[in-house]
Amino acid sequence: MGKTGRRIRAIITALAAAASLTACAVLPQGGGGGQQSQGGSAAKPAQWRNSDLKSVMEESGDVTEKDDFALAVNREWSLANSVPDGYSSYDPFVARNFEVNDELKALMTDRTPYSDADAEQARQNTQNYYDLWMDWETRDELGMKPLLDLLGPLFEVETLDEMTEYLSDEKTACNATELAQCYASSDWNDTDHYAVYIDRMDVIFKDTMFYQSMDYDSWQQEPYYNILIRHILERMGYSEDEATKILADGFRFEKDVAEYCMTLEELSAEDAVKKQNNIRTAEELEELAGDFPIMGIIDANETEGSDRYILCEPDWLEAMGTLYTEENLERIRSYLIIYTAQDYAQLLDRETYELYGDVLNGINGASGRISDEEAAVGMVGRFLPGQLGRIYSERYVKQETVEEVTALAKQILDEYRSMLQKEEFLSEETREEAVRKLDNIRLHIAMPQVWEDMSALHVSGPADGSNLFKAQDEMGSFLLARQKTYINGTVNHQYWTSSPQDINAYYNPRENTVTICAGILGGDFYNTEMTKEELMASVGCTAAHEISHAFDSSGCHFDEKGNLRDWWSPEDYTAFRGRADKLVEYYDAIEPFPSVHCSGVLVQAEAIADLVGMKTMLKLAEKEKDFDYDRFFRSYAQTWKMISSEQNEYYSIIQDNHPLAYLRVNAVVQQFPEFYETFDIKEGDGMYLAPEDRLAVW
Ligand SMILES: [Zn+2]
Repeated sequence: MGKTGRRIRAIITALAAAASLTACAVLPQGGGGGQQSQGGSAAKPAQWRNSDLKSVMEESGDVTEKDDFALAVNREWSLANSVPDGYSSYDPFVARNFEVNDELKALMTDRTPYSDADAEQARQNTQNYYDLWMDWETRDELGMKPLLDLLGPLFEVETLDEMTEYLSDEKTACNATELAQCYASSDWNDTDHYAVYIDRMDVIFKDTMFYQSMDYDSWQQEPYYNILIRHILERMGYSEDEATKILADGFRFEKDVAEYCMTLEELSAEDAVKKQNNIRTAEELEELAGDFPIMGIIDANETEGSDRYILCEPDWLEAMGTLYTEENLERIRSYLIIYTAQDYAQLLDRETYELYGDVLNGINGASGRISDEEAAVGMVGRFLPGQLGRIYSERYVKQETVEEVTALAKQILDEYRSMLQKEEFLSEETREEAVRKLDNIRLHIAMPQVWEDMSALHVSGPADGSNLFKAQDEMGSFLLARQKTYINGTVNHQYWTSSPQDINAYYNPRENTVTICAGILGGDFYNTEMTKEELMASVGCTAAHEISHAFDSSGCHFDEKGNLRDWWSPEDYTAFRGRADKLVEYYDAIEPFPSVHCSGVLVQAEAIADLVGMKTMLKLAEKEKDFDYDRFFRSYAQTWKMISSEQNEYYSIIQDNHPLAYLRVNAVVQQFPEFYETFDIKEGDGMYLAPEDRLAVW
């Protein structure tokens, strides 16, 4: 017993810190604003039918490429396929996900040793964790005991002073949850060096806005708290009344704190990083926090002695000083119990695991359960992403893939440079900055070329008499010890903040890095038999899309090193906005469902990236001999084939900052003369857009 709890939080905090570095992924993702536009001024684009819906494909009959390109190209595939059980959509990303999962499962059960010592250690650690996860006998035998042991010292806290000691003293700070997150990450202002970030505690409902509109009665209808957490509390031995009180106290504390926290909308806004970039000394933190033991928590997380602290939300820390009182002691304790129970739910016994799955299914509108093997692989990937990536790369990534994709990406960067050099709306000053930024983009292709040293990590397995809770403790101890070495240290930019097995590509403004993970270099996206046209339509457009994020509305706040610095002149930025606003209007006018419009504001950055991606590849195509445009455009359309449920489409329209799949085809290709020439598009055709209405942001 001891520090296990704090360890799992350390793992989650460290991994979340890494995840927060990745932005602008090519994959559709939830979150981020989500206001719904109610109509634009002019209905410029044709109202294509939403061909992401299979029903539309079934009813459409023969439609030509001239009238609806996405529908005509992808209809046959859509009619021949369906959405798999437990999913709300099917597309090349989901298909590729199945392939990668099979590869990962094979890695977990193949016990052949690796000759490379680091890979062999990664194999043992990941397989030990996998085996522990699959060891239901031990898990059922232990039942709730590991969680009770973990929370023991928290149950004994009787005064605020004891709570302070509990939160600050490494020997007794075994709380799974902490009231602040402290972690080392590259400094927003000097990306070559580490800073320590102080961020607010998590809340169950990720958007703090939620708590403002919710009262105690409506909260009681929420299944997540009131079925899942209640079940765990009752299994821990609390009576129904006691569990009700803990749940209510915890909610009230969250609600009080949430009032002083940034909302999801504020965190997704263009100026969010600037608002969070509050440099403070340790003395200033201490003064702001009042009795709240911020320095004790910093110590317990091995982040003391940093030359630079960045306080993400000053209002929150000040509020903690006010809320950290003897009167609130029970509420604080309840919050810590609830959050710890939630963190560990998936690591407990079968009964809890099944209930956890049922509740989540209810919330997400899914059904069925993924296999234990797939779930176990998922947890290995969550807690040991780098180690799993190490052996995945060793087994599945070919150096020739790295070389071919790197060469293509470099060609795209060259083309991009000449586009920037010719761009008329940029002043000489901004152009120079833009080219310097482009020339400093780091390419991370397929897998890291340098791996961070993890030789000190040893995860014991069932043969050592271990269990999942001990494994969390081992992983957490390692991560905290490593964090200590980061303090005031230099950042190694060759390390990745994501995993090679991810089916994704993204631009990271804080590192000025374009990453194309090995996971996306397979399936429909990539194979060595592809023609030049097919390669350019998939990986090429993806790479060019990501590069363009360096020059979009969020990328413009970070310079060539990834430091927070505005390098656009205000006049140039205004000119850029004018072009972008035309695009916003164009998307606002599109209606995927009757009277439901796209939100141009929501999708603008991604829509611009799609456009620039296509433009760059068409510029490159000009240099190719006998380029097959027909094949290129068809391959591009196939990259975005999709069968989706209506709910999923609707959810995407209001939540996803990427345009819908059929629009990533039609709304992009109709902006380019090459498309009109290839398919002989004329005025009156569904794919026709008058030249003066066509979009060109870059
Ligand atoms: Zn993107």
